[in-house]
Amino acid sequence: MSGRAELWSPSSPRSTVMGTLTMPCFNRVAANLIVAAIAAMTALTAGRAQADPLPADFVYLRDIDPSIQQDIRYAGANNFVGRRLAGYEAAECIVRRAVGLALRQAQRELAQRQLSLKMLDCYRPQRAVDDIYAWAQDGNETPAQRRYNPSFSKTELFRLGYVATRSGHSSGAAVDLTLVDLRATKGPSFDSRRAYADCTAAEPLRAPEASVDMGTGYDCSDAKAHAASRAITPQQRRWRETLLAAMSSAGFKNYRLEWWHFSLPGIARASYDFPIVAKSKN
Ligand SMILES: [Zn+2]
Repeated sequence: MSGRAELWSPSSPRSTVMGTLTMPCFNRVAANLIVAAIAAMTALTAGRAQADPLPADFVYLRDIDPSIQQDIRYAGANNFVGRRLAGYEAAECIVRRAVGLALRQAQRELAQRQLSLKMLDCYRPQRAVDDIYAWAQDGNETPAQRRYNPSFSKTELFRLGYVATRSGHSSGAAVDLTLVDLRATKGPSFDSRRAYADCTAAEPLRAPEASVDMGTGYDCSDAKAHAASRAITPQQRRWRETLLAAMSSAGFKNYRLEWWHFSLPGIARASYDFPIVAKSKN
């Protein structure tokens, strides 16, 4: 390290100051003051980063409404790729503030009927979108992955509109979610060692999701998962309509190929790529 300008570089304060201290005739009091000043600046920067790691206008949904359940599937192995996606360093729902407030509104309406929203995916870093796209092209497909697209191979996902190089999730304006009946008895948990039926099968045969029966599992790339599909039972249709009504009254629009995908209009579509990290405790 050399050069005076680097003295104030936040990335290398320690080594630069140590270098400065070896300079002949340097005033030790001044050096100590500089060390103290840099230590204070570093602490201030670190403190700010810990308290507010998100870009402006993004929030942890937990801070807006902790009653909304979360099962962020891409942060673990229970998803169509079968592993955690790039950028999901924590299982946290992050959204734009307006989205969080609208979700809270929907949740309040549903709570009166002993129902709760459950978030399955929220903000998605661009690197995760790239990860999914690369996976869709890699030519390998396991039976567990095939559960999510039983009618065609994964190489067709892009052409059919289930996978894209850009996603509304990367703007923080789109969410994937389902409903939980708070009066229902708790069902079995997902077991990665079990061979479940595909995502279009009857609910007891599908991988359990601890939510109401919407007619297919989450991320099911199939016509049965199209929001208006008629290939589902009247009760499954009522659950989809309940979710759609609550989300629509809060301002969201549904994506017709996926009963679980909603976005809030009016938010700039720029993609972000910051990783999802754990929320600080303070
Ligand atoms: Zn989605």
